[in-house]
Amino acid sequence: MRVILPLRGRKIVGLVWKSDPAPNPDIKYKAVSEVVDHEPLLYKELLEFIEWAASYYMYPLGQALAEAVPSEFISARKSAAQRISSSFKGPGRSHLEITKWDEPQIKRLTREQDKALSIINQALLSKKFSPMLLFGITGSGKTQVYIEAAKNCLAFNRGCLVMVPEIAMTGQLASRFKKALGDQVAILHSGLTPAQKRDQWWRLRLGKSLVALGTRSAIFCPIKNLGLIVVDEEHDPSYKQEERFRYNARDLAVVRAKMERAVALLGSGTPSISSYFNAVTGRYTLLELKQRPSGAALPAVEIVDKKRIKDKGQEKEEDPGWLTPRLKEAIKDTLDRGEQVLLFLNRRGLATYVFCPECGYVFKCSACDVILTWHRRNKTIMKNLDEPLPDGHGMLSCHYCGSCQPAVPVCPSCSGQTVKTSGFGTERIAEDFLRLFPGTTVARVDRDTLSSRKKLENVLNSFRQGEIDCIVGTQMVTKGHDFPNLTLVGVIWADMSLNIPEFNASERTFQTLAQVAGRAGRSKRPGHVIIQTYLPEHYAIKHAAAHNYIGFYTEEIELRKRLGYPPLGRLINIRFSGPKQAEVLQGAETARKLLLANAPKEARCEILGPVPCPKAKIRSRYRFQLLLKGELCHIRRLGAIVDKQLQSLLPGRVRIEIDVDPVNFM
Ligand code: ADP
Ligand code: ZN
Repeated sequence: MRVILPLRGRKIVGLVWKSDPAPNPDIKYKAVSEVVDHEPLLYKELLEFIEWAASYYMYPLGQALAEAVPSEFISARKSAAQRISSSFKGPGRSHLEITKWDEPQIKRLTREQDKALSIINQALLSKKFSPMLLFGITGSGKTQVYIEAAKNCLAFNRGCLVMVPEIAMTGQLASRFKKALGDQVAILHSGLTPAQKRDQWWRLRLGKSLVALGTRSAIFCPIKNLGLIVVDEEHDPSYKQEERFRYNARDLAVVRAKMERAVALLGSGTPSISSYFNAVTGRYTLLELKQRPSGAALPAVEIVDKKRIKDKGQEKEEDPGWLTPRLKEAIKDTLDRGEQVLLFLNRRGLATYVFCPECGYVFKCSACDVILTWHRRNKTIMKNLDEPLPDGHGMLSCHYCGSCQPAVPVCPSCSGQTVKTSGFGTERIAEDFLRLFPGTTVARVDRDTLSSRKKLENVLNSFRQGEIDCIVGTQMVTKGHDFPNLTLVGVIWADMSLNIPEFNASERTFQTLAQVAGRAGRSKRPGHVIIQTYLPEHYAIKHAAAHNYIGFYTEEIELRKRLGYPPLGRLINIRFSGPKQAEVLQGAETARKLLLANAPKEARCEILGPVPCPKAKIRSRYRFQLLLKGELCHIRRLGAIVDKQLQSLLPGRVRIEIDVDPVNFM
């Protein structure tokens, strides 16, 4: 319960966490001025869970709490706290609209679905902690298994939490869950207004909803007597929060399920290496769906080697560099049949590089020291290129800090007039597409064109209804969506995501390729995928093209074993940042010394670095990192030393961030 406390002549709002049965006689206590709530805001199991998470991720408990519940609950103002307390009487009426999608009625579960479900049911019945991995290719009917499992869970009078990686995916899933379970489904994601969020939260807290569906922060929602936690697309990196409280909601789902003696059901068509490892080593029960109920075959995947095409001089002059003759022909055939195309490239913008050929000047962001990307149009749907361009030469934008400046055709260094651009992003592809295939309609799906969930849903709906011929998109389009008339998927440059310095780059590439390929031909018409690459022999690309997860896993896990990477060894990344480069580096060196003095002698435990982060400067702050690698208990002990002792040894301007189980090293 929240209370009002006198502190230095002010009244502040505090939260009673625990009571101490034996007060310390040496401490002078102050009296609480007022109790705000009539009933506890959170209950015991949830408090323990939040406490566990804060401790595991080495994040201050108070701040962790502020992320775990709607922020206004922990407001420092007395009046706000009281207003919220009065809403305890019941949720308000802020409306939350759920778009209805047409879904075919499902008459009977397949044999595989049935089998998976009976294992889940037994686990629900046993009331024991049961972690499970549901490994089923896209379109194999995983969602139906989640829905049936949720129904059973409710029949046992236990609550159910369903998590999805992105807001964009809550829409379709919410509609399916509401159809099956009625209005008791609460929705939680960051796109809600504060009033909507508060209402949904109270509905759960008061037991008016027993089912919650949401994105990663929903892992902290107040469902009592939790019986089932579903994590859809469990491999998705969005489950990891990449700022402040760096928790991984997928991993926390397993922890919370353990605390609540519940079933944790992690589902994916391309499981994370660590979850599959847990399944083959017997820690998780493996459930498999190998067939699609529709009988639709997986799409044929063709790899086009861009090197060869360059060597043989097959590129035609008028064709842009991103398009091979093979993909061009396939697009033409698809459009001729009246079917739809999806082109995937994980990079926005028109050009990725703007420079002056006379003096070599490159346009960069002064605060982040990275190359600026050129943008011109922010239109989502484009029909023809004759539409007037916006005034001026467009914008140069920094993809790290988001700052923008007008593009000018003059070099600021030598005043040269021949400024050139190079590289390509989704915007360039959309423009080229219209030029090459006149009379078509193209939509760009990326962060530049789609600022809200509503807009994204609208575009995807128009695509479903056939009003758009081609979508050019970043990873926003790879997930979860079902388009019956989409038969060709083109991956413009598959190896782009391999060329980054992260231990999990291959895993990410394999997953993305498999997911994007899974968009093609999900209904009666056969699908076709073309992957353009310079690395056709790379195991991530080869196995993705062959729909061979096990083949990929087998090669990848060997590599991880050899190098001691997760899940065989664990990592903690410690990031240092500040306005002065020398000071930051010195801080990181101090940390290294402190850790070396404390490192266990005999145990395998490495301290790597410090090195500059791949993004070495962001928003005028220099960044270095120190990586701890080894057995969890050892590196956690070292991490705790940094957490407890280091800040007092460093200048206040140097910020330390601890990232336990990091997935992003940029
Ligand atoms: P996933 O979540 O694995 O990608 P979905 O649950 O979305 O797969 O199912 C894919 C398609 O198959 C959907 O259109 C769904 O309506 C259909 N489907 C699922 N289960 C069955 C079933 N038992 N019988 C017929 N169709 C089914
Ligand atoms: Zn910047």
